[in-house]
This record gives sequence, C-alpha cells and structure tokens, in this order.
Amino acid sequence: MTRVVLVGPPGAGKGTQATALSREFGVPHISTGDLFRAHIANNTELGQDVKRYLDSGQLVPDEVTNEMVRERLDEPDARGGFLLDGFPRNVGQAEVLGKILGDAGTSVDAVVEFKIDEDVVVERLLARGRDDDNEEVIRRRQQIYRSETEPLLDYYGTAVITVDAVGDVDEITQRVLSALRDRT
Ligand code: AMP
Repeated sequence: MTRVVLVGPPGAGKGTQATALSREFGVPHISTGDLFRAHIANNTELGQDVKRYLDSGQLVPDEVTNEMVRERLDEPDARGGFLLDGFPRNVGQAEVLGKILGDAGTSVDAVVEFKIDEDVVVERLLARGRDDDNEEVIRRRQQIYRSETEPLLDYYGTAVITVDAVGDVDEITQRVLSALRDRT
C-alpha cells in the first residue's frame, strides 16, 4: 500500500495526515498545492502562470498540472511509492495518473477519502488564514470539490477507503493506518 491518493474537501486535514503517513511509509508526500505555492514563491514562469488560479480558488488547467505531476512522479524518490495530496482533483487527472502509473507497470493501491462536514472545514480554513482562505474563495473551492473532485470516489470505486476526518490528528492517522492495514 505505497501508492496512495488522499481525497477530501479543502480543510479536511489531508496535508497534515500526509506528513504523518509519509513518515510511517517512507514515501514522499506530494502535494500539488505545495508544488504550485513553491513555484509562486520562487517566481518561476509556471508560478506566474498559475498564481491567478490559486488566488481565486479555481483549478489550474489540467495540462499544466498533469505535466508537473508527471515530472514529480518520475523523480527517484517517488518510484517506490507516494502519497498524493490534492491530485487528482477531477476524473481527467485520474485518467492521466492511471496512464502515468500504467506506463511504469504500477497502479494506485488505495484512495483514502477524508469525510468531514462542510461547515467544519469552512471554520477550519478561516482559522488557518492562508492567502486563499478568504470566505468567497473557500466557498468556491468547496463547490469545485463537490462538482469536480467528488466524482473521483465513483471513479475509484472499491479502492476507496473512507475515514472519519473529525478528531485528533493522531487519532485520525491511526484510523487511516488501520483502514489501510485491513485492506491488505
Ligand atoms: P491545495 O493546497 O490542495 O488546497 O490547493 C491549492 C490550490 O492549488 C487549489 O485551489 C488550486 O488552485 C491549485 N491546485 C492544487 N492541486 C490542483 C490540481 N490537482 N488541479 C488543479 N489545481 C490544483
């Protein structure tokens, strides 16, 4: 279970869990949001191209995102496994991920869904205070999650493991680990 995709609404705690799980499994935590933010911070050409999408809470176009992920997954540390956080975010991206992995003779082992009420995540995000955490942008990101990202759960079908994402950070990590263990 080393090729794992984390799915959940913005604010569900995927990033925090991915950090803990990455330590546990010894595979890299790959967050497309973090990769984009690093490009923006370093003022790269890609960063300049994608900034407006992040600022407004819209998805970065698939061609840009997929290419960035393809390159990241090709790096040596990701060959043996990874925790993908924030990718795929729609079915088109999931198909591309399937192709990238298929070409390498592998596939997604599990998809962990972080289940949490929208009101709870909106509260959390307002408290977090990142640049794209104002109420209007938060609401847009939640809508996009529902319309674009949630269909992934049907797409991945029985590979999906749903975990209650309300509670203590450590408690949730344990829930994910035991759910993954039960699956193998
Ligand atoms: P996150 O850190 O996952 O909340 O992502 C922050 C922002 O980065 C999102 O609101 C999007 O603008 C962009 N982003 C991150 N991952 C993706 C993706 N897989 N596809 C398109 N845009 C993305």
